[in-house]
Amino acid sequence: MNIVLLLAAGTALIGAELPVVWVLSTGGTIAGQGASSTSLTNYKAGALRGEALVKAVPEIAQIADVRVEQIANVGSAELTIAIWLTLAKRIDKIFTAEPRTAGVVITHGTNTMEETAYFLNLTVRHDRPVALVGSMRPSTAISADGPLNLLNAVRTVLAPESRGKGVLVVLNDEINAARDVTKTNTLRVQTFRSPELGVLGYVDGDRVSYYRAPVKRHTVNSEFDVSGLKELPQVEIVYSYVEPSAVMLEALLASGPKGIVFAGTGAGLLSNVEKKAIQKAERRPVMVRSSRVGNGRVPPNEPHDSLGMIPADNLNPQKARILLMLALTKTSDPAEIRRMFGEY
Ligand code: ASP
Repeated sequence: MNIVLLLAAGTALIGAELPVVWVLSTGGTIAGQGASSTSLTNYKAGALRGEALVKAVPEIAQIADVRVEQIANVGSAELTIAIWLTLAKRIDKIFTAEPRTAGVVITHGTNTMEETAYFLNLTVRHDRPVALVGSMRPSTAISADGPLNLLNAVRTVLAPESRGKGVLVVLNDEINAARDVTKTNTLRVQTFRSPELGVLGYVDGDRVSYYRAPVKRHTVNSEFDVSGLKELPQVEIVYSYVEPSAVMLEALLASGPKGIVFAGTGAGLLSNVEKKAIQKAERRPVMVRSSRVGNGRVPPNEPHDSLGMIPADNLNPQKARILLMLALTKTSDPAEIRRMFGEY
């Protein structure tokens, strides 16, 4: 059964050297442990180490020579920019130093997975596959989804078709693009969606199948270089709603961030309260308008344009923040940053 499956998937090298896959572990529910098999919402994320996750799926050793490295072991709300920079630099080193490496899998909590995926999509400088994987149920749960997700992520990075597609997110038998994917449900296993744009492909028992490829700039075509960086410029997100007070925005503006992303209403609109606070500010940071809606483009719009605000196109606020942080490592010229928001 296994032999048929592996041959059909085109990944088994019987009698030959297995391709090398690195698994970089950062924690999350996939490494979570609960008190019992029915502890589905109360458990400790980031309890198991990467070696244990790989060992629990012996099928992986049949198709790949796996090297495991523990980068962190946290719930993904505790991820940091320092960990992102470590991941980007480590992946570049692995690909540069080890030509036998077919791909890299990152085990990660699902809560902020889309952010890490998009950051790496813009900063990894190789076209070999990188896939993020997690799970919605801890390792101790009945019907835990982590083991199959992990096997599928390894199979995805081994598939030659995964090369050049940017960073991938693999859960629930589906492959999504880092730029498009978002977590859409707090608890369900089918939480990762690329709304309106759809999956890139599937990982089934017989093969990995692709149906489309990302068209925006990523990885080898990205202009961003974090190799010499220890931190990123401070960019915060402000959420819009009916009749906000100016308290939070004024305090934020006074604290001098390098950038602000607005999760505006509709197609990225701000209230007069917010616009006035910006007009009054002694120093304006670079500002980007995204939307709290979850789907669709934010186009240019007066009077926001004349306040110097840059539209985020269809990047959600948390991804617009990542692009703005990276943009600010190169320039604070709004025209240049506007170009970047059109290209990435
Ligand atoms: N519940 C989260 C997860 O699915 C925990 C986290 O993001 O680390 O992994």
